Amino acid sequence: MLKREEILKMFETAGAIRHGHFELSSGLHSGTYVQCALVLQYPRFAEKLGQALAALFSDVRIDAVVSPAIGGLIIGQEVARALPEPKNQFGGGVPALFAERDASGMMTLRRGFDIRPDQHVLVVEDVWTTGGSTEETIRVVEEAGGRVVAAGALIDRSGGTIEFEVEAQSLIQVPIASYEPEDCPLCRSGSPAVKPGSRFVRTAP
Ligand SMILES: [Zn+2]
Repeated sequence: MLKREEILKMFETAGAIRHGHFELSSGLHSGTYVQCALVLQYPRFAEKLGQALAALFSDVRIDAVVSPAIGGLIIGQEVARALPEPKNQFGGGVPALFAERDASGMMTLRRGFDIRPDQHVLVVEDVWTTGGSTEETIRVVEEAGGRVVAAGALIDRSGGTIEFEVEAQSLIQVPIASYEPEDCPLCRSGSPAVKPGSRFVRTAP
């Protein structure tokens, strides 16, 4: 089982968790930047993180994994890969399905994905901020007749405030501390805010 420090090391090595002074896409400033895609781009890291997340649900029967696209795709696949082959399966392993937004923005199952009645489903996402996409995915699975038995994420940024109606586990907690630029203590200390993903450094106002 991976320790919290080992998990953090993977994220930090890949630049998926950075410490400093950032201007987030919301315009808020923060001392931490998290972008799971940057760690999941490395297949060996993705595989290890999938194994670690799957291990949190070793006492739960899981027949399928369903993830909200796009953020949940890779980690959903890796968690499903790490789960034991279900009974009466044909050697393909636990299926990893995904829900995606249609033209009207509704989360939906497309591509012929099918959930059997009473199929036990684990919903997997990369990051919980409010947990909204996981909530929507749980509803999609239930409307399709499946039974959501648990939900998992790599990182919980809510500070433990999210309450799902099913058992929920995250690999690590990295609470968001963000500030309006005018209230930002990092700005006040004189350091410039950096826009992650941009090569340009922005100076604080
Ligand atoms: Zn700032």
